[in-house]
Amino acid sequence: MDLTFSERETAFRDELREWLAVNDPGPEPLHGFDPHFAWRRDFQRRLYAGGWAAPHWPREHGGRGATLTESAIFFEELGRARAPLPANVLGLLLGGPTLMVWGTEEQRDRFLGPILSAEEIWCQGFSEPQAGSDLAALKTRAVRDGDGWLVTGQKVWTSAAQYAKWCMVVARTDAEAEKHKGLTYFLMDMEQPEVQVRPLRQMTGESEFNELFIEGARIADENVIGGVGNGWKVALTTLMNERAGLGFFLQVRMRQLLDDLIDEAAARGLLDDDVIADALGALHVKTEVVRLTAYRGLAAVERYGQPGPEGSLTKWMWSDANQQLAQLATRVLGAEALVAGSRWGYELLRARGYSIEGGTTEILKNIVAERVLGLPRG
Ligand SMILES: Cc1cc2nc3c(=O)[nH]c(=O)nc-3n(C[C@H](O)[C@H](O)[C@H](O)COP(=O)(O)OP(=O)(O)OC[C@H]3O[C@@H](n4cnc5c(N)ncnc54)[C@H](O)[C@@H]3O)c2cc1C
Repeated sequence: MDLTFSERETAFRDELREWLAVNDPGPEPLHGFDPHFAWRRDFQRRLYAGGWAAPHWPREHGGRGATLTESAIFFEELGRARAPLPANVLGLLLGGPTLMVWGTEEQRDRFLGPILSAEEIWCQGFSEPQAGSDLAALKTRAVRDGDGWLVTGQKVWTSAAQYAKWCMVVARTDAEAEKHKGLTYFLMDMEQPEVQVRPLRQMTGESEFNELFIEGARIADENVIGGVGNGWKVALTTLMNERAGLGFFLQVRMRQLLDDLIDEAAARGLLDDDVIADALGALHVKTEVVRLTAYRGLAAVERYGQPGPEGSLTKWMWSDANQQLAQLATRVLGAEALVAGSRWGYELLRARGYSIEGGTTEILKNIVAERVLGLPRG
């Protein structure tokens, strides 16, 4: 595998670097999720104005038709510039690409533009109290009502629902059909009284995600994506897109965090401490392994047209290494790393969720065991 960028990729990177150099996102708000989200929304508007909101989208939908490698470069460079992820990341990475595969022309015309400009924020209403890893066990149901649907049920852990106009909802439309077959994928308007958003407070003190209580919410027939009863397949498209590209942003963030921790250790004279130096060295190796495995995954997509199970390996290693890094910060900084509201205190608490969101470590291990190592199903 050749990691050298082609001329076109280098030109893409240089153009983006130039743009980022004159479009500094400004200081990251450290306290409160609302100001943080507003900062990201503002940055997305600037990306949009500069034509950079979704380089991976085709040109006809407002993107740049970027290749997978260019898309990886985009996320790496955002991370390197310490710029935030665009506020509408779920619309840009999951919703838009799902519409491009399954949506009608009318749906694409209606929804794609406001995703790009951050005018309409999207959220993902998949998980339920009894359906997370086993998503097909979901119980939210939708029944026909004239020329539309009435949806009733509960969703949980819905990130950014408090800002969202649209929610990607998977609901059961046929209670008699097999678990995976009676599902339909809808776009639900969040701005109706039948949808209640209740924030869930995380241990970081923030409310990044929410519970959704849905009591007969109305969804027009034209907001069914991919046809009635086809929800499982459409949801898989959304999930396949969940990690594409984002991994490159996250691994650059981990690299920066590690570099910052090395600086903290150096400032305290701790690089001479064998135990600390050894742990930092091990994390350096892990960070490089995550980066190279992410590129190997990219090469697999370019060759075979779809992501291989390596994606699960990258996410598992990334969340594991991040948790170790945040833990090591408490040894380097001592009590300072435990102060509520401090940067390292936040990292320590937030890192716990990394091994749950986007697929738990146990589920990822199952995938690696079955599909990479060829072990029998558990
Ligand atoms: C920060 C964060 C943001 C999130 N944002 C969203 C969002 O925007 N939208 C959304 O829909 N969801 C979201 N989620 C939910 C996330 O997708 C689920 O938490 C995740 O899929 C796990 O589901 P669960 O919480 O129901 O746990 P469960 O599936 O109940 O799992 C409980 C435990 O059992 C283990 N387990 C389950 N099945 C198996 C098995 N077959 N083999 C071995 N072990 C198993 C799991 O690994 C876990 O340790 C978010 C979660 C977090 C932490």
